[in-house]
Amino acid sequence: MTGQSADKKLALVTGASRGIGLAIAQRLIREGYQVVGTATSDQGVAALTETLQQHGPEHAALRLDISDSEQTEATLAGLVSDFGVPHVVVNNAGITRDNLFLRLSEDDWQAVINTNLTGVFRVCKVLTKVMLKKKAGSIINISSVIGTTGNGGQANYAAAKAGLEGFSRSLAQEIASRNITVNCIAPGFIQTDMTDVLPEAQKEAILASIPGKRFGNVDDIAGAVAFLASDDARYITGQTLHVNGGMNMG
Ligand code: NAP
Repeated sequence: MTGQSADKKLALVTGASRGIGLAIAQRLIREGYQVVGTATSDQGVAALTETLQQHGPEHAALRLDISDSEQTEATLAGLVSDFGVPHVVVNNAGITRDNLFLRLSEDDWQAVINTNLTGVFRVCKVLTKVMLKKKAGSIINISSVIGTTGNGGQANYAAAKAGLEGFSRSLAQEIASRNITVNCIAPGFIQTDMTDVLPEAQKEAILASIPGKRFGNVDDIAGAVAFLASDDARYITGQTLHVNGGMNMG
């Protein structure tokens, strides 16, 4: 089933096929939202649809590649006409293409900027316009601790995430008077596919730097999203909420 829920607010979660995005989608369902999640492949859409609809037929999945302007515009226009205007938008989709700077290719630079930064611009460009008319909502952008600290081997990723935080503060200033908040969540090290690929020695070094003495899990981030989406956070905008077990207390 697709369509607008009569009684539930709509939440969009990009990159909901796995990892942090899937946990956010599931948490927002538990919070009472109608959730539309996205995946980049048809196979991912089918699996995500099945997962989300275990919680009710009103939830849905769409195929979305935020690195593609035309597809993003068309898919989100379809979202609005089929499901209505989202009350919560979680820009979670992101990639890494790590390499030491001297070996970092322009392709890997562009890929990360195009997805992690310009991709969020594309989503906000379409949805802010319709959210403004409703004069309500929350935009939550998933940044990273690396946007604050930087990290050897991640110049592209650090630049994109730092840029995302500056973008979010600027958009927050422009639309605060319309009752729309824009905030970032900056996770530390969270156990997902993205971090599973790191060498064991690097993981051990990171663990040693976390005062909380454990890696984060996806629910640590989903809980922070649920808070920033809630009415308890209506007066919080333009902020970055760090969820990292104390690995950076900047
Ligand atoms: P993940 O397990 O690698 O999942 C990434 C998600 O993004 C997938 O759903 C993927 O879809 C989607 N995606 C990738 N490229 C996309 C594109 N061009 N358009 C739309 N969707 C796309 O990553 P994760 O660890 O859950 O990370 C989620 C977010 O948290 C990212 O923004 C990441 O930078 C941030 N973060 C993660 C950590 C961490 O420690 N894991 C730390 C700080 C910040 P498919 O499944 O279809 O490929």
